[in-house]
Amino acid sequence: MKRIYKKSMYKYLICVFIVCLLGIFITDPYIENYIEKSSIQKVTKEVVSGIFEGSSKNDKGEEIVIELELEKNIIKHIELIDFNDDIAFSKKSIILFDNIICKNSIENLNTDDSTEKLLADAIDSALKNAGITKESLAEISTTKRNQTQKEYECDLVIVGAGGAGLTAAIEAKTQGIENIIILEKMSFTGGNTRMSGGSYGAPCNWIQIDNGITGDSNTQYFNDIYNGGYRKGNPDLIHIVADNALDDAIWLRDFVGVKFKNEQTWYEGHTYKRTLCAEGDGSMLIDTLLSKAIDMGVIIHYTTKATHLIKNDSGAIIGVEGEQANNYVSYKAKYGVILATGGFGANSELISKYNPDFDNLKVDIPTTNSPAIVGDGILMAEEAGASLVNMDYIQLYPINNPATGNFYLLDFARLNDNAILVNKEGYRFVNELETRDVIAKATLKQTNARVYELIDNRTTQEMRLEEKYAEEIQKCIDQGVMIKGTLKECASFMGIPVSTLQYTINKYNNMVINGKDTEFDRKNIKYIDKGPYYMFSSIVSVHHTIGGVEIDTSARVIDKYGNAIPGLYAAGEVTGGIHGQNRLGSVALADSVVFGRIAAKTVASSIIENYE
Ligand code: ADP
Repeated sequence: MKRIYKKSMYKYLICVFIVCLLGIFITDPYIENYIEKSSIQKVTKEVVSGIFEGSSKNDKGEEIVIELELEKNIIKHIELIDFNDDIAFSKKSIILFDNIICKNSIENLNTDDSTEKLLADAIDSALKNAGITKESLAEISTTKRNQTQKEYECDLVIVGAGGAGLTAAIEAKTQGIENIIILEKMSFTGGNTRMSGGSYGAPCNWIQIDNGITGDSNTQYFNDIYNGGYRKGNPDLIHIVADNALDDAIWLRDFVGVKFKNEQTWYEGHTYKRTLCAEGDGSMLIDTLLSKAIDMGVIIHYTTKATHLIKNDSGAIIGVEGEQANNYVSYKAKYGVILATGGFGANSELISKYNPDFDNLKVDIPTTNSPAIVGDGILMAEEAGASLVNMDYIQLYPINNPATGNFYLLDFARLNDNAILVNKEGYRFVNELETRDVIAKATLKQTNARVYELIDNRTTQEMRLEEKYAEEIQKCIDQGVMIKGTLKECASFMGIPVSTLQYTINKYNNMVINGKDTEFDRKNIKYIDKGPYYMFSSIVSVHHTIGGVEIDTSARVIDKYGNAIPGLYAAGEVTGGIHGQNRLGSVALADSVVFGRIAAKTVASSIIENYE
């Protein structure tokens, strides 16, 4: 799935930071000295609380404006007020915000780096406006953390405010569970789901019906997922996804208010075109889930990282310990805990531990994941006795931007039309419609583990690529990873011999005339037409960690002896066993939503069994 940072994300972040303030500080009974935005107040010359504006500009004239929330010289939040899209909300800046808040310091920022310098200068200027220097920020120590312990009590704790966590929260509220707190370690919601294309595989969906696509079924969806995962997934869990995906898509549309586009897309391994696409991609999907959850009264504690599960004497999970803005915190949860912390795609140590093959690849593999996705929930569950399954199944995504490691939106031209992939020598090397793992493995064998996608002008026009993906195209051209031009210009820009590229196209077009790809058996091949062409270079990235915490069909976490751990539930990428050895595109979101709802329903039914 792709990851995208858009202006909408920044707008969203601004809202979220406001929600953070409301969510954590106003509803937090332990913080008495919270000061309203308008009433900036200095306690003494050196000890300051309040909200202070700061700004900075870089050499290119790009400016950011921030608001810094201080409480007794401790940074609580950094709110982006104004920014330039190019100061990309990259993985780096996401990590920076959270590190700054956790360490309460900007001392360690690398000012040789333009993004870090811009942020450091903006924070410095906010501190000046607060009348203090960066040296006066309070030192955060372990002793202090223990002294400032806070305890919360609620009915249900959900760890992680991504796709599965927000879904579980909405469903839990619907089921009548009152006091729900979601712990989110970052300063904003969404995780990998926010970065995704919001693609949701649903058989027999309304767009299929509108387009006269018949023949699809839950059974066919099951078969596609099961076979796509090389028959290694747990059939019981796959049936749950296959049988509930459509109902839950309708729930997302009609109850939550998610808007789906009027067109669908196709991913490798699906027999039918059945992938619904959220308008505004994963970002808007998460915004919609978030506003529904907030409207229903779900409380979110941001910058709150869960670290351990709390067990009672009989082995039931009764809460979570964690860290919140440098304080030790604990949450007692009357009805238990749902883990929805995502996978571990951004944790290279865990990846190497579970799949040593990655160490042997001899190329640096970036990740499409949010930096938050480091396996926290998996490790917490393991510590509490959970069984982990399929941890060595780690999915590589084949077509990503070498400058960022992120999914190319423009790659829809390969999936849904006729774009071809060639290597540095100018030859095709794989069936372009193969599953992700096959293309990724083939890519890793090519020179420099780098390949090139070529899109002709007919495809560009028919798919309206320039209109739909203008922002990405411009960014990629600026980054030097994409070109629009004649075949000769494309080849020379990418360092590919034009003669072999031309030979490859001629060969492909001859095969189109003869009706069969005798080289790689690609179906539905179409004539590669004239230019101008788009060509972009591509690398593989770690995309999805398929393994994780073992669950049963009710989303209860299973221990090493095959028993459900009372009070512990899990949904989404934190879980393992569903997809098998390879995950089909657009099934991750369906999995998160289906099991997020089921986890909440199981909690609700356990209340009826145990408490009434
Ligand atoms: P899924 O698709 O399974 O819902 P996402 O990646 O969308 O997964 O969301 C996972 C969320 O969990 C992210 O928002 C991430 O920041 C959050 N998260 C991960 N680890 C922790 C943790 N230890 N405490 C709180 N939140 C966490």
